[in-house]
This record gives sequence, structure tokens and C-alpha cells, in this order.
Amino acid sequence: MTPSILPRTLPGLLWLHIYLFATLVSAYKPLSDSFLRAIPPAGPEDFDIKTGKLLAPILIPRVPGTPGQTTTQRHFVDFFTRELPKWTIEWQNSTGTTPVNGMAPIPVENLIIKREPPWVKPGEANLLTLVAHYDSKSKYDSRKQIMEGFIGATDSAAPCAMLMHTARSIDKYITQMHDEMAELQEGGTVEMDMGVQILLLDGEEAFVDWTSTDSTYGSRRVSLAETWESSYNPPSSKFYKYRTPLSQISVFMLLDLLGAASPRVPSYFPTTHWAYKNLATIESRLRGLNLLESTPKEPFLPDLDGAMGKYSGISDDHLPFIGRGVPILHVIPSPFPDQWHQMTDDGEHLDMPSVKDWSKIVTAFALEWLDMMEVWTEPGQRKMS
Ligand SMILES: [Zn+2]
Repeated sequence: MTPSILPRTLPGLLWLHIYLFATLVSAYKPLSDSFLRAIPPAGPEDFDIKTGKLLAPILIPRVPGTPGQTTTQRHFVDFFTRELPKWTIEWQNSTGTTPVNGMAPIPVENLIIKREPPWVKPGEANLLTLVAHYDSKSKYDSRKQIMEGFIGATDSAAPCAMLMHTARSIDKYITQMHDEMAELQEGGTVEMDMGVQILLLDGEEAFVDWTSTDSTYGSRRVSLAETWESSYNPPSSKFYKYRTPLSQISVFMLLDLLGAASPRVPSYFPTTHWAYKNLATIESRLRGLNLLESTPKEPFLPDLDGAMGKYSGISDDHLPFIGRGVPILHVIPSPFPDQWHQMTDDGEHLDMPSVKDWSKIVTAFALEWLDMMEVWTEPGQRKMS
């Protein structure tokens, strides 16, 4: 890791997270083959680039301060309100000053979409945090003096749609788990209540050139990471484990630049290498069971048996969080896709088998993380409990 971006307080926080991970590891039960088979595929009704209900509406320019930003936000809110009413939606809004438009402020609007056990109070749940940015890069053609309609299909329209698919695929199991725990009067008695939150972040892209002030408008400074660092959870007598929303994040899983063929996503961080290995194991098992459609020469996640992760040097929305001690699982290919920041990063250049496969891998990872084998019944067996 690069010491310059890490505060001096990190070792203490790191130990805390290692302790939490150890707690999680002990409860970690891999999904059975039959559960993996039951994960719904990301079908064309959701992922067709022209008509897919989840993906197609995001394949538009989504620059902060333009109508595309609002249209995309409405798409997310409509989807969760209509299809997943048990998830809460919060906004975290601010404004940023960009080097264009005479430093006129732009609206930076992050969405926090959450599903927690119904019995937890604010600040009590340990949250699997799935993240993607929804804004698209502003590209200005100085010769023609017009804004170009850059789509950013891998960057990060497709990852946003993958997270919507994941949310919908895990929802019924979460409901089942909450219902069963309530029935057994276990709600609020377990050591750690787990929930899931999806962060759809705004303003990741630079307006001119990537610098620390012209980029990650949504995740840094006056925006999410800093706001969360200084908002204290209400103390509750039993569970005052998490002082701030940042400390509630069990892992910050950031999806970016996904959807091109043959991605190679290495393990970047030693602190989350064990989680990376769980993710890579899921990919390998799904491939072994013929449940994935892509046929890359190398797995998407090649470091299953490799060395511990090493710091990537890639700048992204995780930086304001890693600097505050949050464990990061960065799911971004290295090298970046060929279409990266090109006008050709559009729907037509997505590799649909890879898009579908990521959706399934991430869904399986979330189910496993949330310990859903607890509610899975093997086909042909009656549930014993
Ligand atoms: Zn980008």
C-alpha cells in the first residue's frame, strides 16, 4: 500500500476490521451446488441494451447537472420503490465545484439503498456494501465545441445494473431469513446483525483531467466518506459497536469498468485477500458447474491461489474510504478495458456473457456473505428446524 494515503490511525482500525473478519470467517458457509444452480440468470428482459429493464435506461449520458443524471436517478428510485419496497432509499447530496463552466457548482447526489433486519436500530447493523458510480464522464469536443454523448457502458452503467439484479435476486432470501429469525424469536439476539447496502455514487469522473480535486466528487470530502466519518450513530446499550456509518461497513465492494470480454481482476489489498479468494472460488465453482456463459482463457479472478494482494495505485471511489480504514474489495480489471474513456464504451461494445456472469458471481457472493445457507433447503429435503 502507499503510505501517503493512509492516516496514522489505520493500524488500530485495521485490527478492528481483522477482528470483525475473523468473526465473519467463522460463520462463513459456502453455498451448496444446488443453491448456485438456483441463482437467477441476468436475462435479456433486464440486460438487453435496447429494451432491458435494468440496463437499457442507464445507457445514456449521465453527467452531473444534466437531464441524464435525473433520468438515471429516477430509474433507480422507481426500480427499488416498485420492485423492492423493503429497501430504504436515502440521498446524500452536496455540490462540487468543477474546473468547467466558470466554476459553477454541480449537484452531486449519492444514493444509499439499504436492507437491514427489521429489528435493528439505526447504526446497529454490519453492512455488506456494494458500490458502483452511476455518473458518466463529461467529454467535450473542443474542435466542434460540443459535449459528446459518452455513455460509459462499462464505466459504470453495467455495474449499476448488476447491483440492481443482485438486490432483486437476494431479496427473497433476506425476507425468508428475517421471517425465520422472527419466528424463532432470534431477532436481536445474535452477535452480529448483517444487512446490505448499495451505494450508487455520483461524480466519480473528472470533468477535465483526473486530479484529487477533479474526480470522486460523490465519495470524498464534503460528500459521503467525510459525512459518514463525522456522523455518530446513536448509542444503544447492547450493540454500540459501530461509532459511525463507516465502521458499519464490513467490506466495501467496488465494481467498476466491468462488462468487457476477458477481464482480469487481480487481488489488490492484503486486508481483503481472503474475501477476494471467496469471490474467486465462487467464480471457479460456477464455471465448474457450467453455470457461466463466458469462455475466457483465464478466469476473471485469477489470483485464487496467488500471492496476497498488492496495492494497485488505481484511483477510484474507494480512496476516501480506504483512507479512513474501510476494508476495500476492488473489482476492477487491470488492465482497463480497451474501450475505457473512448466513445466506443457503449452498449454495443459490452460483452453480454461477461455482464451476465458478473451478475451471477456478485449475487452468489452476496448470498454467501449474508450466510444464506441458513435458509436454503436442498431439493428433495424437508427443512429441519
Ligand atoms: Zn471513468
